Amino acid sequence: MNADNGVRVHVLKVGAVIEETADARTLVFEVPEELTERFRYRPGQFLTLRVPSARTGSVARCYSLCSSPLCDDRIAVTVKRTAGGYASNLICDTVAVGDLITVLEPAGAFGPRDLDADVLLCAAGSGITPILSILKSMLVGGSGNVAVLYANRDRESVIFADTLDSWARRFPERLQVLHWLESERGVPTADALTDLVRRYRDREWFLCGPAGFMAVTEAAAAGLRVPRVHTEEYRSLQQNPFDQPVRATPARPLGDTAVVEVEIDGETHVLDWPKQTPLLDVLLDNGIDAPYVCRESACGTCVCSVKDGRTRMRQNEALIDDEIALGLTLACQTLPESPRVHIAFDQ
Ligand SMILES: Cc1cc2nc3c(=O)[nH]c(=O)nc-3n(C[C@H](O)[C@H](O)[C@H](O)COP(=O)(O)OP(=O)(O)OC[C@H]3O[C@@H](n4cnc5c(N)ncnc54)[C@H](O)[C@@H]3O)c2cc1C
Repeated sequence: MNADNGVRVHVLKVGAVIEETADARTLVFEVPEELTERFRYRPGQFLTLRVPSARTGSVARCYSLCSSPLCDDRIAVTVKRTAGGYASNLICDTVAVGDLITVLEPAGAFGPRDLDADVLLCAAGSGITPILSILKSMLVGGSGNVAVLYANRDRESVIFADTLDSWARRFPERLQVLHWLESERGVPTADALTDLVRRYRDREWFLCGPAGFMAVTEAAAAGLRVPRVHTEEYRSLQQNPFDQPVRATPARPLGDTAVVEVEIDGETHVLDWPKQTPLLDVLLDNGIDAPYVCRESACGTCVCSVKDGRTRMRQNEALIDDEIALGLTLACQTLPESPRVHIAFDQ
């Protein structure tokens, strides 16, 4: 089945539900043999779950994979209750072994390109999920040093506390875990975090968590002039990729257009590209099965390369400057800046 967004929809059985803390459950999925290839993933990627809703039919929510493709047999996500949140509470309250859940295939651009790099991984609360996947993958499959800064409300709310301890014991030379408990030290500030992680300023940083935490860690990174900072901000999708695609921007009249040549899925298409219409909308309007999930510049699923011509993004939360310099762009945000543009997916 296809969700019309180039990312296929599948139904997976829940093989296990693990109570991590009072507020967090891990769902372990069973992937049938014939879908193994479709569920190959990189550390840091996420699944999108379809959560039924009496009001809207369904909502879509992203959950990062906490499992590692290098050392875990089964894929798993960990869901933490959000106060007043719809889907996270429904999942934690009701999902049981044997349930069938509709999901999109793994997606997302957050995660290391080089498993041998030295990194600092920063997480708050459920932001630990992709960080754990990255950490395990880098320690098992790479040679670099990994430091983790992990902020939580109190000791009881630390997800994967024992798992982190056991990885730190297994790799004492290469892994340092720094816990920040608000119950003991208050809410982390940029200044306090700066002091704590100053010694990792030359490393690549990966930050994941809710908006407030991202703001203080990004401020610390900026103050320390950290060379490369990758971010994954946790928030709920506004759009539902399980529904038919909805135009984000109305089409502009013909005349104000560029021409785009697009390579995707082994085919090349030449299309008119209205100058105010994001590339993704143009592709979907032309019946081309381009990949996407969030359409808000956050998830990186629609990443593609500008091979020729000039483009700009309306906004960008998924790509760092180095990636943009290499020609990467997000189709959901890209507008043409030159009369002809050549784009390639799957590079
Ligand atoms: C790439 C990605 C990966 C993620 N990975 C994880 C993960 O691994 N684990 C995890 O737990 N979460 C993860 N998230 C977050 C997750 O997708 C959800 O955003 C989260 O579970 C909250 O969803 P919810 O339906 O429970 O809350 P929602 O119902 O969406 O509510 C979110 C907040 O908004 C408030 N709110 C809701 N409706 C309104 C309204 N009408 N007016 C004002 N306020 C309102 C709620 O009170 C609540 O505080 C990830 C998000 C992204 C984008």
